[in-house]
Amino acid sequence: MTAQLIDGKALALTIRNEIATKIAARNQQGLRKPGLAVILMGDDPASHIYVQNKRKACAEVGIKSIYHPLSAATSEQTLIQLIQTLNHDPTIDGILLQLPLPSSIDSEKLLELIDPKKDVDGFHPYNLGRLAQRRPLLRPCTPYGIMALLDSTQEVYKNRHAVIIGASNIVGRPMALELLLSGSTITICHRFTKDIQKYVSTADIVVSAVGKPHLIKGEWIKPQATVIDVGINRLANGKIMGDVEFEEAAKRAAFITPVPGGVGPMTTTMLLKNTLQAAMNQDT
Ligand code: NAD
Repeated sequence: MTAQLIDGKALALTIRNEIATKIAARNQQGLRKPGLAVILMGDDPASHIYVQNKRKACAEVGIKSIYHPLSAATSEQTLIQLIQTLNHDPTIDGILLQLPLPSSIDSEKLLELIDPKKDVDGFHPYNLGRLAQRRPLLRPCTPYGIMALLDSTQEVYKNRHAVIIGASNIVGRPMALELLLSGSTITICHRFTKDIQKYVSTADIVVSAVGKPHLIKGEWIKPQATVIDVGINRLANGKIMGDVEFEEAAKRAAFITPVPGGVGPMTTTMLLKNTLQAAMNQDT
């Protein structure tokens, strides 16, 4: 391996310490703790673990998380009423609606009901629109965290070709907007793209967010590129791996994120950062 590892765990810890310090300073000024409402509907085991981890992270930095567990049978109307109540609650700065929602619920409609000022996941069309118009407010957490990882490598962005594989609303698309805002030149690949290799092999920055193990071959990586692997793939043996052939890619890249320990810890960290930001926006 010649590439330098981008240590998401370490960077996440540094940012979380900064957030904790800022919240402690706010408390000293007599300002209340930032409040995050966490809505979990149904009993998906993975979602339960994600929510537990997010609430623990909140407690560690001094954010008050208020948990709203709802049974899978809860009606859409009840969920709508809860979101509207939280939108008007002055002690709530952020609203987290854990996805996926049961198939009986229209997720997009519900996400749009969240007040954009409290949309700490950054999924609301208003916040995506602001990012598209180069005036970001609350930014989607995973791409926001990836920008912090890239910044940590002293990435220059301008005159660099960034290739994003995956075009979902929560990762690929906002990632493209972030990198465009940074001054990079962007290519987005997706399930209908033929010959991904052709694009990846010209990339100075590769971001893979697909969810297919070994989709990105190590030998495709341009020498000295930066490789960000967002994919989380759980193998039959319980092992977690990304989308990129790590060992081979690391022989060619200048920087590479591991899976786990790369992008993952940054996503929750940016949720905390957005919640503090939303609280600070309410102060002014
Ligand atoms: P998604 O299923 O919504 O989107 C996947 C995208 O990949 C789609 O745009 C699709 O067109 C594209 N795609 C599918 N097959 C392809 C192929 N063969 N070639 C090129 N593109 C292809 O997924 P998502 O929610 O964006 O998540 C992607 C991955 O990232 C998953 O593994 C997910 O677990 C992971 N993820 C990680 C974090 C984190 O914090 N580390 C956060 C979000 C998602």
